[in-house]
Amino acid sequence: MGSEGHAAPEWTATVYLAELSCGRCAEPSLHELRYAGRILVASRCTNCGATLRRADPALWIEYLEDLLQRVRTKPRRMATRALRNPRRFFSELPKSMLTKPVHLAEEFRTLLPIGKV
Ligand SMILES: [Zn+2]
Repeated sequence: MGSEGHAAPEWTATVYLAELSCGRCAEPSLHELRYAGRILVASRCTNCGATLRRADPALWIEYLEDLLQRVRTKPRRMATRALRNPRRFFSELPKSMLTKPVHLAEEFRTLLPIGKV
């Protein structure tokens, strides 16, 4: 984590909740963990609002490496899902093809502030 602030940024990527110890309010509390793909970008204490956000440009490299790996393994993952439950796979395919660009755009938006001075 690189920077700390009070204002919650506009975040739209995947959010998980986890109970963590907060550096500001010194209490175990629920934290929102924001991910771009599988890379943790930021956390926010839901008790006091303390925000930690990674600000190093290396985050972009980690994200792009992760994205490449996801793209590389995508055909195998899709085939596995199709074999496991063909009806469900094909019924959900149009939706997943439409939402994928939206998900990628959300991941990029999460990372955009990184590296700005
Ligand atoms: Zn806190």
